[in-house]
Amino acid sequence: MYTLEHRELQEGEFWREIPVFAKVSQNEFLDYKWQIKNSISDLIKLAETIKGVVSDDFIVAISKGFHFAPMNVRVTPYLLSLIDWNDPWNDPIRKQFIPVSTQLIEDHPMLTLDSLHEQKDAPVSGLTHRYIDKALFLTVNACPVYCRFCTRSYAIGADTETVKKVDLYLNSKHWENAFQYIESRPELEDVVISGGDTYNLSAEALKKIGFRLLQMPNIQRIRFATKGLAVMPMKILSDEKWLDALTEVFLLGRKLHKQVAIHTHFNNAKEITMISKRAMDKLFERGITIRNQSVLLRGVNDTYEKMQLLVKRLSYINVQPYYVFQHDMVKGVEDLRTCVKTAIEIEKNVRGVTAGFNTPTFVLDAPGGGGKRCIHSYEYYNRETGVSVYTAPSVKPGKYFMYFDPFHSLSEEIRQAWRDQKKRQQMCLDAIYHSGVGACSRLA
Ligand code: SF4
Repeated sequence: MYTLEHRELQEGEFWREIPVFAKVSQNEFLDYKWQIKNSISDLIKLAETIKGVVSDDFIVAISKGFHFAPMNVRVTPYLLSLIDWNDPWNDPIRKQFIPVSTQLIEDHPMLTLDSLHEQKDAPVSGLTHRYIDKALFLTVNACPVYCRFCTRSYAIGADTETVKKVDLYLNSKHWENAFQYIESRPELEDVVISGGDTYNLSAEALKKIGFRLLQMPNIQRIRFATKGLAVMPMKILSDEKWLDALTEVFLLGRKLHKQVAIHTHFNNAKEITMISKRAMDKLFERGITIRNQSVLLRGVNDTYEKMQLLVKRLSYINVQPYYVFQHDMVKGVEDLRTCVKTAIEIEKNVRGVTAGFNTPTFVLDAPGGGGKRCIHSYEYYNRETGVSVYTAPSVKPGKYFMYFDPFHSLSEEIRQAWRDQKKRQQMCLDAIYHSGVGACSRLA
C-alpha cells in the first residue's frame, strides 16, 4: 500500500488568506526583499497581522509566551502564511517559531544553555574543533527567522528577557582568527560554515569565506548551513547576486576537486511547497548538493507518519535527508523535546520507506561535547527515569555523556525524584553503574 501525498505540494496564492496579505501580488511575495522587509519580530506587529484570524485567548497566550522565550521571535510572511490559523495551537510551524505560554512546561533540572559545550571546544571564539578532521565555523549571529529550540540560544540573536547572549564576536573582523587556526591544523579537512545562518551573509562575504577555505591545501570539504531554504526559498529565486556567489564557490570547489554542499533544515513536510521546489530545482540545475538536518520535535514531526512524509517529500525535491537530531537539552523549550524511545520507534518505521541514501540517520548530539552518536548506540537506557548513557570513543575517549528524557514523558513520581538533588544524583549514579562505562570513565 502506498500514497503519493509527498508529491502534493501547496501552490497558488495561499498567503492571501491572511487579511493583511490579501492584496500582496505573486511578484511581491516571491521577492526576498519583500519577505525580509515584512518579517515580523515584535509582538504588536504579530498581533496586528493575525488579528481577526485567531481568538483573543491565543493573542494573550503569545503575548505571555514572548516573556519566557530564550530566542527572539522572527518569522517571515511565507512561514506565517503556511500556519493553519484555524488551529494555531497545534500547528507544527507555529510551534517551532511562536511561543505560547499555555504550552510551556517546567524545564528538566539537567537542562542548560550551550548543552553541547561548543564554547569549551572552541580554540578561537566562534570556531568549535571537536572531531579530529572537522570544524564548525560560526560566521554570523543572526538568522532570517529564529527557531524556539535553537541549540545556540546562548549566543544567537539579541538578548531576551530570560537569556543574556554570549558575544562570540561573529563578524568579519574576527573571521581571520578562525582562518588562521584552520590553516594551522593539517588534520582539519572539513568545515561547516554556520551561525546564525549563512543566508544572512552577503554575497561578497559568502564568496570570500568559501574561496578562502577552498584554497587552503588541507581543506577538502565545506558545507554552508542555512535554514533559509526552508523559511525563505524566495531568496534563491530572486537574489541573483547571492545565488551567483554561491555558484562560484561550488564551481571553484569542483575545479579544485573539493566538495561543497548546503545543509538545510526542514522539519515538517508542510514547510515544503511548490515555491520550495522551484528554489531547489534552481539549485539542482546548478549542480548544487543539498542535504537536510531535521530536529525531532514534539507535535511537529514526532510520529512515524509525519517523518515518513517529510523524508519522501525531501527526496522528491532532491534534498537528501541526512540527519534527524534528538532535541538538545536546551533550556526553555521543554514542551518540544521528545524521549529517546520515541526517536528509536520512529527510526524503525522510517527505515525501509525509501532508498538507503535518502534515509536519515537518527542521532543524539551527546550533551557535554561527545558529538553525534547514533540514537541506538547507548550503553544504557532506563526508560523509567529517562536517563541514557553514551560514550564517544573516537571523539572523547574515556568519557561518558548523559541524556535525560523530557519531564512530560516521565511519571509524576519520577518527576518529583528529579526535583530532589539527592535522588537526582542517585538516578545518575545508577545509570552509570548499569551502563558499565567503568570506574576510569568520566562525565564530560
Ligand atoms: S536558523 Fe539555525 S541558528 Fe538560527 S535560530 Fe534556527 S536553529 Fe538557530
